Amino acid sequence: MHFQGRPQKHSIRTMGIVLLAALGMLATPIRAQAPATQSGPVDPLPPDTGAAGLKQMLIRLQTTARLMQTVAHPDDEDGGMLTLESRGKGVTTLLMTLTRGEGGQNKVGSNLFDVLGVLRALELTASDRYYGVEQRFSRVADFGYSKNPDETFQKWGGHDIPLSDMVRVIRTFRPDVLLARFSGTDRDGHGHHQASALLTKEAFRAAADPKRFPEQIKEGLQPWQALQTATILPARAFGYDKDLGTVDEGKLADLILVAGDPLHDVRDVARVQQVIVDGRVYSVPEILAPFQRR
Ligand SMILES: [Zn+2]
Repeated sequence: MHFQGRPQKHSIRTMGIVLLAALGMLATPIRAQAPATQSGPVDPLPPDTGAAGLKQMLIRLQTTARLMQTVAHPDDEDGGMLTLESRGKGVTTLLMTLTRGEGGQNKVGSNLFDVLGVLRALELTASDRYYGVEQRFSRVADFGYSKNPDETFQKWGGHDIPLSDMVRVIRTFRPDVLLARFSGTDRDGHGHHQASALLTKEAFRAAADPKRFPEQIKEGLQPWQALQTATILPARAFGYDKDLGTVDEGKLADLILVAGDPLHDVRDVARVQQVIVDGRVYSVPEILAPFQRR
């Protein structure tokens, strides 16, 4: 822009307008600060709207796979994995958290027990929106730290209350893959964690057995068999069976060799001996080397 003629007067007038605008902002601070688009707790998230939302819908059209993870408390879940499967791969994904975390500690406030459970349940369902997963709970409570699953089941009134809740979710959600977050062993570090994995194994079988919790079958639910093996059936469910799932000519040769038979004892999946990725063989010490303490 060129100022020909009387530039000085022009700039004075501009300053006056700027000053008036500044005074106007001081006089009406509330209106000035109110953002034009404020998103509420039920508004869709940015990744679910516009071009990003359309991309999510198109990814979801490419698979019918359904995955369900089971845990004991809010924040036990593997949020990265859930987000990858749901938003990254379009898998319809559900998280079942047995308790609402009422028995946890609170380092940032004074809320404990039932109120803490409400707070943690709200935090969890807010996280679920970002993971892109559905959420279910069961009727059992988090009564605080538990040393072992026997004590946990004693306080939960036996296995059948959480088990029937889990079976009901499996029969209604109908997952292809059922995934326990924990192992059901002492390594889980908390009786509730162990119990959640033990219940998942029981629920896997019970959901497919019409004699278990027959009142649910009478209500119209169907028995449902989730996938058991960790090889070809999940590969098929997720549409990767052309490249993965079996050892065959022309398929990817990425393999994990374990000592034992995971179909006989699922803990054998942790007994890794060698890993083959992109045609290279890695030994366990080689893989763990960057993580060893010096
Ligand atoms: Zn936990």
